[in-house]
Amino acid sequence: MVKISFLGSCREVGRSAILIESNQGDQCVLDYGVRFNEEDRMPIAANLSRLKAVALTHCHIDHSGALPFLYLNGNKPPLFTNAVTLEIVEKLIYDMLKVSSYPYPFGKKEINELIRYSQFLENGIKQKIAPKFYITFYDAGHVPGSVSIIVEVDGKRIFYSGDINTIKTNLVDSANPNDIPEIDVAIMESTYALRAHPPRAALEREFVERTINIIENGGKVLVPAFGVARSQEALMILDKYHYKGKLFLDGLATLISKIYFDYPNSLKNKNNYRKAMRNVNFVNRRRKRLYAKKSNGVIVSPSGMLKGGAAMEYIRPILKDPSSAIFLIGYQVEGTPGRQLLDEGIFQFKEHHSYPYIDYDINIKAKCEIKHYDFSSHSDGEELHNYIDSLNFNNNSKEIFCVHGDNKATITFAKQLAEKGFNSVAPEDGEVYKI
Ligand SMILES: [Zn+2]
Ligand SMILES: [Zn+2]
Repeated sequence: MVKISFLGSCREVGRSAILIESNQGDQCVLDYGVRFNEEDRMPIAANLSRLKAVALTHCHIDHSGALPFLYLNGNKPPLFTNAVTLEIVEKLIYDMLKVSSYPYPFGKKEINELIRYSQFLENGIKQKIAPKFYITFYDAGHVPGSVSIIVEVDGKRIFYSGDINTIKTNLVDSANPNDIPEIDVAIMESTYALRAHPPRAALEREFVERTINIIENGGKVLVPAFGVARSQEALMILDKYHYKGKLFLDGLATLISKIYFDYPNSLKNKNNYRKAMRNVNFVNRRRKRLYAKKSNGVIVSPSGMLKGGAAMEYIRPILKDPSSAIFLIGYQVEGTPGRQLLDEGIFQFKEHHSYPYIDYDINIKAKCEIKHYDFSSHSDGEELHNYIDSLNFNNNSKEIFCVHGDNKATITFAKQLAEKGFNSVAPEDGEVYKI
């Protein structure tokens, strides 16, 4: 019997970690991420004494943030990933350790070990990790370098979607279910299983037209965005619809944008990317930031939910200016300053100063325009259903595990799939299934 243990990401988005065990007890871990805003951020503890390999779907820290823990001591397994993902993982984990006071049980030494034990695996190449135990990567369309994974173990084929997008964005190509061979089991993300994204092209056009209008009338536009992929997607959309005004990129997004230059093959169209980046001012010095603050232009900067990051440098005067705008372009989790700004028009934030040690409470009623353009990099409900319908299941099993979504999304998604004849469940943390 093959065993699948869910060490996280059950009925929540965070700490993705799945353990697969063969008949003989050989083990493979798929993703090993952290969760946010919780006391307990690491995946559920498990005996990993026979860990033969770790395979990573993509760089986001809810999938990668806990990886260094597997390189603390003892048996250090190879980490299968690709070059663009590894380089960004390194930056994101260092950034996570820097901005958080949480006592993560690892540091620089383990991050170095993780890099040392990493091996690059090309998509479509079957990699043996133990007897009768193989992994293969397939494009997941989520961010540059993202993959879904097929695990073949003791004659069973398990498909793990990771985070997946089945529509093309400007930055990356979409995932294609026709690439996937016949499977017995699927482990599917469910982030937006209960949502429908608005038509993408119309949304992109509206975003740029509104931006141009505000800039032409003398305002500024702040676009808080995740540093990985979403900031770059925003810049490509602005270029595609001919935004010609001043454009600034700040914070972690600048580092990630430079990494993408080094891995053009991870992008859908490297020429479009280069073209979009040509007019961007990379804010990497104090003087440049002062210039950006004074200019009448667009500022793209993390963090995407306004929980900190370089966006904080710009937000106050923009909030108070009726001719300016803040356009949020990612999902705003409940309880974040971005969500509150969107729902109530109020920006509330606790700003920490380490020297002198003071916390400032910022509470500003927005006079500027606030809008949400959700340029998602996940499939919505209909797209997830279409993807699953196109997968080729072995008729005897048709098992689907719904993970990486909140309580309601994972449970309802599993129910919908059960109605279509799948043997589907939303597992809970720590549960072990035999297949
Ligand atoms: Zn992701
Ligand atoms: Zn994720």
